[in-house]
Amino acid sequence: MFEDQPKKEHAETEASLQEILWQRENIAKRQAAYLKEYGGMLICLTLNIAGPVKRFPLADRGFREGCTRVEAMLKAYNLPVYHRCVHSEKAGQTGFWNVEAEGHWLKRQLTQIEDFDDLGRILDLDLLQTDGRKITRQDVGAKQRRCFLCTNPAVVCGRSRAHTVEELQNYTRQVLSAYFWEKDAQDIGRTAVRALLYEVSATPKPGLVDRYNSGAHSDMDFFTFLDSATVLYPYFFRCAQVGMENCQRNPRTWIESLRVQGILAEKQMLDATNGVNTHKGAIYSLGSICVAAGILSGRGQKKTPEQLCELAGELGVADLESRRHDFSQPGKLPAVPVTQNTGARKEVSNGFPHVLQIGLPSFLRAREMGKNWNDAGVFALLCMVCKVIDTNIVRRKGAEALARVQHQLQKLWKQENLDDKEIEQLDALWSQEGISPGGCADLLALTYFLYFYCEEE
Ligand SMILES: [Zn+2]
Repeated sequence: MFEDQPKKEHAETEASLQEILWQRENIAKRQAAYLKEYGGMLICLTLNIAGPVKRFPLADRGFREGCTRVEAMLKAYNLPVYHRCVHSEKAGQTGFWNVEAEGHWLKRQLTQIEDFDDLGRILDLDLLQTDGRKITRQDVGAKQRRCFLCTNPAVVCGRSRAHTVEELQNYTRQVLSAYFWEKDAQDIGRTAVRALLYEVSATPKPGLVDRYNSGAHSDMDFFTFLDSATVLYPYFFRCAQVGMENCQRNPRTWIESLRVQGILAEKQMLDATNGVNTHKGAIYSLGSICVAAGILSGRGQKKTPEQLCELAGELGVADLESRRHDFSQPGKLPAVPVTQNTGARKEVSNGFPHVLQIGLPSFLRAREMGKNWNDAGVFALLCMVCKVIDTNIVRRKGAEALARVQHQLQKLWKQENLDDKEIEQLDALWSQEGISPGGCADLLALTYFLYFYCEEE
């Protein structure tokens, strides 16, 4: 999937000089027409992009972001909007809003949007009065806009053509990609934390920590998990970024660099929980999914649960291979493989078959049946416990305990209905016996992640 893949160029269309000139004329005509037809003040949004290529996926995203900012401002101040529209042409996109507001005040709001951050620098937000006259930044005491590349006013460099089109293009592309990479990595990191919070909140989960009790655990409670999940945000964010940065490279060449991230995340988790292991499995499995999500985002590919899991599987395989060659004691060959392929690692390197085949479909079915976030999560968890070899149960209580647990569930599943009381009885029983399906709890967090990230849009 990684090898021999040429860097994919996004479809980009060049606008001819004629089209660009026509566009300018056209904007002026539309401004006059909309002012005449709808009245009020007219906001006009365009992007500041040099050169003949005005439309590319990142530019369109930047434009949408500009529209979102204008709309948020209009809504926050509850301003009447008489008319709004967007025109999309090869030579660029333009947004128009006819708004009822005091002109100088409104222009000040628009300059704040422009000056807010680097992305704002690429937005041009003109404001026209009913008579067609522009209210400028200077009219409201705002600073002149500076050139992208030097400290001169933008108009000076524009007139003297101080910089090449290529320099200006590179700048705008860098700003756009930096902005959206940050935003996409934040989305991925936030979704991972959200998934962990939903997982621990789903109640009742037999034998596990939830909102009612601590299940089979005496050293942690619900709040321990909240502390642990929140402290992991920077780690998941970083995983997403690593995926984006390396989206076209074979993971064998960079997978090792993730290991130190995982080690540091574990340290932060243990610091936050007073030494209790709450999310060690999730650091590995959910971290892999975040890297995979970063890869898809960096490539601009559509995100589906299957794609994410397949990519995470490739990462898992590359990771296992790199660990095999990792001799922590120089000069000495390890007698056994450094890491055995069990539990979370096996699930990851196989591409999360149990999440794709059991967890997510059960969750979706439950949601279709009208179950809420909580009950659908509990349902998906029990479906997985029923069929997955949960290494947490096996390690703590042995294979017979797992067989017993699965038998208890299967008997109930045949009636296809497990009511709250029955689940609570199992909770009491497993908690007493020290049975905790922690492996499946991690898979439930992954189920939530895939749902939030891929399905919920
Ligand atoms: Zn300049």
